[in-house]
This record gives sequence, structure tokens and C-alpha cells, in this order.
Amino acid sequence: MTKQFYIYTFGCQMNVYDSDRLRDALIHNGWTLSSTPDTADLVVLNTCSVREKATDKVFSELGRIKKKKKDTTKIAVIGCVAKESGKEIYRRAPYVDYVYGPQAWHLLLHNLAKDFRDIDVDTHGVDKFDELPMATDTAAAAFVSIQEGCNHFCTYCIVPFTRGREVSRPFDKVMDEVRHLVKLGAIEINFLGQNVNNYQDDNGKNLADLVRETAKLDNVQRIRFTTSYPTCLTDELIDLYRTEPKLIPFIYLPIQAGGDKTLKRMNRRYTRDQYFAIIDKLKAANPNIQVSSDFIVGFPGESDADFEDTLDAVRRVRPIQSFSFKYSKRPHTGAALLPDQIDPDVAQDRLEKLQTLLKDIQREFNESCVGQKIKVLVEHVGRDNPNIIICRSENMQTVVLPKDESLIGKIIEVEITKANTTTLKGQLC
Ligand code: SF4
Repeated sequence: MTKQFYIYTFGCQMNVYDSDRLRDALIHNGWTLSSTPDTADLVVLNTCSVREKATDKVFSELGRIKKKKKDTTKIAVIGCVAKESGKEIYRRAPYVDYVYGPQAWHLLLHNLAKDFRDIDVDTHGVDKFDELPMATDTAAAAFVSIQEGCNHFCTYCIVPFTRGREVSRPFDKVMDEVRHLVKLGAIEINFLGQNVNNYQDDNGKNLADLVRETAKLDNVQRIRFTTSYPTCLTDELIDLYRTEPKLIPFIYLPIQAGGDKTLKRMNRRYTRDQYFAIIDKLKAANPNIQVSSDFIVGFPGESDADFEDTLDAVRRVRPIQSFSFKYSKRPHTGAALLPDQIDPDVAQDRLEKLQTLLKDIQREFNESCVGQKIKVLVEHVGRDNPNIIICRSENMQTVVLPKDESLIGKIIEVEITKANTTTLKGQLC
């Protein structure tokens, strides 16, 4: 009987991508995917440390797994918490067999057959990609990781400490993966990186080169990239929103705060006016472009006036999707040492005000789509409601249609009949 594995994935799209690649590699090596961790021979926790108390959450998850697992089950903790607290996990949880940081989890593939515990939380650049087999299947919307790590050191962020400094995969290897995924049926390519628009390989190829080369593939119908840093968005990339119809008119461009004093304390390397100027350039390149953004409230030293600046920035940019959080202290980061930490009740109050505004804007935009005909990619049958199919618009809105499985994996035109803050309802045109 083949050995079975189960993977828990926490956090961002890059972790989802890593888990998918690990899944493919394990299947390639003869393992099968288990529907439950309780009977699996290997349980992997792919962890994220962006939010507070991430290590505590991993320990509580490990405790749960330990109670239910078979005696012979091996446990691996990989990802950013492994990088941040790996030595503590290795010491405090002797039943954990492997602890590998975000750039070392490929070592699991070598060491699974051996009977020893192992820990490696070092930075290995992009070596892991060379060790992984190509995917054996793909969704119509495929993800391709092209860059890891970050050099920006925003003062609230732990990523430069967990994922290391920026490294980019070679252009040719990325394109090999893209062509392979397209052969398997991908029609949308999503390039991933912590600072994706700063992608640059050793031969000077950049993200604009990748977008242009990918657009040449006949079967590719949509291209997008996540996550962009505002001042790394070059004129060359912005111009592609004018010239390259396959590049979808939607960009995830976190501003984080709307006031210059807060931006400076965050070590974000732009002012609010510079951010607005970038949005203006994008809109000039393609008036249909829509923006998604991130916001942090309650950052140390944030005054009422600074918070009003954030609300004002939201009204100006009108992001149609967003992620918003209360600031939380992360170890190693500069902001954890800043004076003037904000009272949690004040931060909570600001978050609620901000989210009310963001939701209003998102709902207004979604409602403005009612009666319009838009193109959507049909992704899958509803997980909670098997009578519907879930689709994604070019603006990353969730669109639901009555179930027709023959449409899965296709881009079709639908008419929007109803909308609320999170979802659009459509019908076939
Ligand atoms: S740009 Fe800032 S927030 Fe984004 S990963 Fe880098 S350090 Fe973190």
C-alpha cells in the first residue's frame, strides 16, 4: 500500500503554491494524498508568521495532531514559523521529525526515507525550484512563483527575516514552467513574488519581459502578478496595461497607510502623493484598471489626523478589494521597538471605521456591475453549495452561476444580475 500524506497550509498565496509543489513532488515520489491527517503517514504544516501568535498556533495544532496520529506518522513543520521558531519547535516538540524554513522544505523529499530528525532553517535562495518535478496537473488559473524574499524592511514586517533577501528565478526556467502549465491546460498565468514587480534575473530579464513572453503563447488568455510594491512599478510595466490585452486590468498594490508620517515610520519608500501619481499613471494606461490594497491601522504613533489621511486615501483610490488589519508586533521588526504603541481599543475602533468604508466602496463597485456583460473564468463547483459554479472576473470578483460543469476551465461571457459586497450573481449571455 502506498504511503499517504496530508498538508495543512496557512497564510499567503506563496504558501499555497509551495504546498502544491510539495504535493506534486510527493506524488511524483510515489506518495498519495490522504483525505484526513489522522491516518496519514506524513503530516506537513506549511506555516505563516505574518500574524501575531503564529508560533503558539503551530504548537496548539501540533498538540492536536499528536493526539490523533498513528505511532509511525512523521510530522514536518515547514514555512515561515519554522524559520522564525524552528529551533524552539525542534526542542519543545520531539515528536516533530522535520523542521524546514521556506527555502529548505525540498530537503524533506531527500530525507523522508531516512530514519533521523532534521532541521534546516537556512536561506538557500531559489535552489528548491531546481529540485522539484514539474506539475502533473493544473487548474485553468495557474500560479508560478518567480521571486522570493524582500529587501524593503518595512518596519512592521517579518518577511525579510523569514524568506530572506530578494532572489529571482532564471527567466528561462520560469518560462519552461509556464509552457508546461499551458500544455497541461492553464489559460491564466499568475506570477507570484513577495515583491513581484522587482523580479530581475541574472541576465537582466524583468517582469515586463515575462509578461510579454507569456502573452505570446496562444492558449494563454489572462496574465496577472502579485504582490507589487508601489515604487517598483516601472513605466515599462505600467505601459503594458495599455499595450498588452492579456494583462488583466487589476492590480494588487498595497499602500498600507494614507499619511506620510506613518508611511515614513513604516519605512515605506513613497509618499501618499507618489502613490496617487502611480495610480493616475495606471488609469491613464488603462482607464478600466481596478486596484486592491492593504491597510494597517493602529501603527505606533498613528494620530487621529494620520488615520483620517488613511480614510482620505481610501476615498481617493477606491480599492475594490482590500485586506485591513490592526498593527501587531512581530519579533525582530523595527516597529516592535517604537514608542507610542496605540491603545488596542482605539486601533479596533479605527479598524471598524476603515472596514465600513472599504466594504461600502466594494459593494458600490459590485452593484455598478449589475446589468453589465463581463468575462469570467469558471473555476470550480461551489464547495458549500454544489448547485453553483464559482467564477472569477477580470477584477478578481467572485461570480456565481447555476451549475454547469462543462464550463469549468473556460472563459465565458455572463450578464450580472445581482451583487452584494462579496459576490456577484450572473447568467449566461
Ligand atoms: S515590501 Fe514590506 S511588507 Fe512587503 S514583504 Fe517586503 S518588507 Fe514585507
